[in-house]
Amino acid sequence: MNVNQSAPPVPPFGQPQPVYPGYHQSGYGGQPGSTAPPTSYGAYNGPVPGYQQTPPPGVSRAPPSSEAPPASTAQAPCGQAAYGQFGQGDVQNGPSSTVQMQRFPGSQPFGSVPLAPVVSQPAVLQPFGPPPTSAQVTAQLAGMQISGAVAPALPPVGLGYGPPTSLASASGSFPNSGLYGSYPQGQAPPLSQGQGHLGAQPPQRSAPPQASSFTSPASGGPRMPSMTGPLLPGQGFGGPSVSQPNHVSSPPPQALPPGSQMTGPPGPPPPMHSSQQPGYQLQQNGSFGPARGPQPNYGSPYPGASTFGSQPGPPQPLPPKRLDPDAIPSPIQVIEDDRNNRGSEPFVTGVRGQVPPLVTTNFLVKDQGNASPRYIRCTSYNIPCTSDMAKQAQVPLAAVIKPLARLPPEEASPYVVDHGESGPLRCNRCKAYMCPFMQFIEGGRRFQCCFCSCINDVPPQYFQHLDHTGKRVDAYDRPELSLGSYEFLATVDYCKNNKFPSPPAFIFMIDVSYNAIRSGLVRLLCEELKSLLDFLPSLLDQIPEMFADTRETETVFAPVIQAGMEALKAAECAGKLFLFHTSLPIAEAPGKLKNRDDRKLINTDKEKTLFQPQTGAYQTLAKECVAQGCCVDLFLFPNQYVDVATLSVVPQLTGGSVYKYACFQVENDQERFLSDLRRDVQKVVGFDAVMRVRTSTGIRAVDFFGAFYMSNTTDVELAGLDGDKTVTVEFKHDDRLNEESGALLQCALLYTSCAGQRRLRIHNLALNCCTQLADLYRNCETDTLINYMAKFAYRGVLNSPVKTVRDTLITQCAQILACYRKNCASPSSAGQLILPECMKLLPVYLNCVLKSDVLQPGAEVTTDDRAYVRQLVTSMDVAETNVFFYPRLLPLTKSPIESATEPPAVRASEERLSNGDIYLLENGLNLFLWVGASVQQGVVQSLFSVSSFSQITSGLSVLPVLDNPLSKKVRGLIDSLRAQRSRYMKLIVVKQEDKLEMLFKHFLVEDKSLSGGASYVDFLCHMHKEIRQLLS
Ligand SMILES: [Zn+2]
Repeated sequence: MNVNQSAPPVPPFGQPQPVYPGYHQSGYGGQPGSTAPPTSYGAYNGPVPGYQQTPPPGVSRAPPSSEAPPASTAQAPCGQAAYGQFGQGDVQNGPSSTVQMQRFPGSQPFGSVPLAPVVSQPAVLQPFGPPPTSAQVTAQLAGMQISGAVAPALPPVGLGYGPPTSLASASGSFPNSGLYGSYPQGQAPPLSQGQGHLGAQPPQRSAPPQASSFTSPASGGPRMPSMTGPLLPGQGFGGPSVSQPNHVSSPPPQALPPGSQMTGPPGPPPPMHSSQQPGYQLQQNGSFGPARGPQPNYGSPYPGASTFGSQPGPPQPLPPKRLDPDAIPSPIQVIEDDRNNRGSEPFVTGVRGQVPPLVTTNFLVKDQGNASPRYIRCTSYNIPCTSDMAKQAQVPLAAVIKPLARLPPEEASPYVVDHGESGPLRCNRCKAYMCPFMQFIEGGRRFQCCFCSCINDVPPQYFQHLDHTGKRVDAYDRPELSLGSYEFLATVDYCKNNKFPSPPAFIFMIDVSYNAIRSGLVRLLCEELKSLLDFLPSLLDQIPEMFADTRETETVFAPVIQAGMEALKAAECAGKLFLFHTSLPIAEAPGKLKNRDDRKLINTDKEKTLFQPQTGAYQTLAKECVAQGCCVDLFLFPNQYVDVATLSVVPQLTGGSVYKYACFQVENDQERFLSDLRRDVQKVVGFDAVMRVRTSTGIRAVDFFGAFYMSNTTDVELAGLDGDKTVTVEFKHDDRLNEESGALLQCALLYTSCAGQRRLRIHNLALNCCTQLADLYRNCETDTLINYMAKFAYRGVLNSPVKTVRDTLITQCAQILACYRKNCASPSSAGQLILPECMKLLPVYLNCVLKSDVLQPGAEVTTDDRAYVRQLVTSMDVAETNVFFYPRLLPLTKSPIESATEPPAVRASEERLSNGDIYLLENGLNLFLWVGASVQQGVVQSLFSVSSFSQITSGLSVLPVLDNPLSKKVRGLIDSLRAQRSRYMKLIVVKQEDKLEMLFKHFLVEDKSLSGGASYVDFLCHMHKEIRQLLS
């Protein structure tokens, strides 16, 4: 392969690359007529019999209204494939469901019309000052205080064990219900809150605390109940002392109202994070949820290290220890504080190393030289100067990049810069693109590369004079000199075979030029496209019918993809395949699969095989798809095991999406499917893309996570990339970094737009570098850390036992926190758990990852579910992983009905549920409406149009449309939640004490889980113990 040779002409994507043998990577390097041999896998050398109906390219471009020929579905007599574990011997094989949508509706009727305004050099850009080179907002006031009061309790032996009554009714149907045998109930009452001296301090105190401190019972081993009364700060083992201003117990709520949090140190810049946690007091005062009485899910003995990494064992007779759940960091409070503190001001990206607001905060972004956090989020915005420091801290250095992220309407899409035939200006050595960090020298005749320090000549047509500060006088007229994100029009050198691409075949392209708009054509077309999608219900109707009538159909899968891809190849264009599939492809054909599901493998060394594809055929096929720019979206409608782990290989490697509708029924699932499909079809997609992340000297990208293919160690190849998908990149040191110059990232995505335009999208981000570990910990972002750690773990299960993966996560988390404790926190009793302010949610979130279905499946979780979730998480952005791992729980009847805003969330714990209330729970994929057993009759009537709780249909998925304020509000809220997520969330109504409640409780992630996952409190204690072990 001859991609990207180093000699001139300069290839757009840089350095010579080792290339996958046999993989035809078409000429990104700008070499005309790549001579690479065609891919060499024999199995796909021709259409298999039965697939010769592959529509020719012309057919693929048929107007959408015409019926596409079925892609062909091989039907073979049913063998005796046994789905034994499904207990449905007579329903052995699903019928063929291989409905391939090879029609490419509406393709390029207006292909040559510009789709978006191209601005070559926007004339007016705000004259913001230059990005400071070393300014750093260090006014992070990290101090929070959490009560040091923790009471280990040793209940009398035998007291209080036994299933909580609320679970008893459902226990029969859940094999693991026996695990509920260990709920201690006779525990010490919740501790009162200690009152620390923080409360007496004025908000603008000069020595802001930096850490959260708690005391966990791990400090002294089991204690007798008599020792466990409420501890005052400074008392016993946990309290702060005067010499430890950073370790203070919770102030009373009045001491620091939320508003005072925002004041921080006087003057700009504002504090990155709230300096205290007023919300803890709020919670401690009982504002969040009902009774604080006995907490059924807390206090189960925390089972010790081994259990965290393995199957739940029987209840262990360890003395339960308790932390007051209100005294430990609350995700809800952190989210609220950030919204209050940072939601009102735009996030301006001009300052290097700024930590952006949380993903849960609504904020606007002003690009002043660094990429918006909507495009790039980092685990830390201040990275250690040396690899030794980085190793010491164990904080992964990673960026979650969403190159084509959708922006809110208030924010402009990146400018498109056209440098004409000369193409984008780049560094001759490292090929980095012109960006605001390049230094112009010698009166503007040369520039020094900010990534590799190479001195480059400025081409005459790009020359401009410098002002007295050394800045080009046209800097603010040029996006590439003043903005963090922008696009270049690519020249033909950036195109496959040195030919400008045809428009991708699957995209609905609409002329949006002036005349088209004015004539009403655009409106007409949009309406038409909507109705075009309506042909799908008939398709959906067919699938279940086929299931009903046909029992002897074997399906194939790979040849369908092959056929679609060949059609694209013949048409010489990139594009997207939409595949609809229902069953395991067991017919004799390439990619034939067998049922190899085996739950007995769970928690064995062979569990990883459940996540691995069972044949390499799909990887081979995927490579060919990537070379063609063929992105595959897969819609699965399984009634039983379909081997998602294998079937999702092609979507995964081509940047596509997988949707799974288990036990699909038209009446129940049509809305969800159609909604997903419509959204998917309408997504903005970049085709035939290559992404490269360049870094300044000292660090480099070493690892990548996401839905893509890599044939070398640097180029991320994406047949398609849509606005929801992220690529996560991990960085490692290869040299010492410099505090003054910081560290730079540049992500360059070369892609074909929906209009068939070849473009380069550039995102730049400058980070700070530090020689003090405290600076690292002050500038971390836990949500991004969790996103990275989840992806790392979810990939790890492909190769390692799940227990090993869990243990690794726990160890890493403990090391991160121990390093902070050792190097950054002021001395304090070992009994105190001290968490860095920015990471105080690390334990709770990490615990959610540890007990997720992939890493610790419950009995009801199928192998396909796990593979599916694993695949989904791989491409999730930070907001998605945040809500996926820690669901949002919204009480519906607590706030006034008139209130237009979303009700404030409560912590995801059963303890927070009031049986007189109704709650919505969502995690981006699932949506539950939980109805308490004592909900007022009027509420029941208003929402469900029935007269009593008992008449509510459990499992209901649609609320009746009723003309009253409550009904409108709840339905409106559901719509709004759905609109916020990239996939349609089907509603499930769950009644308290009902069987379905088990399903719902699975998402109450602060509680101990059925599958043995620890409660938040227990996990925090465990983490404390691990940290202490590391420190001792
Ligand atoms: Zn360079």
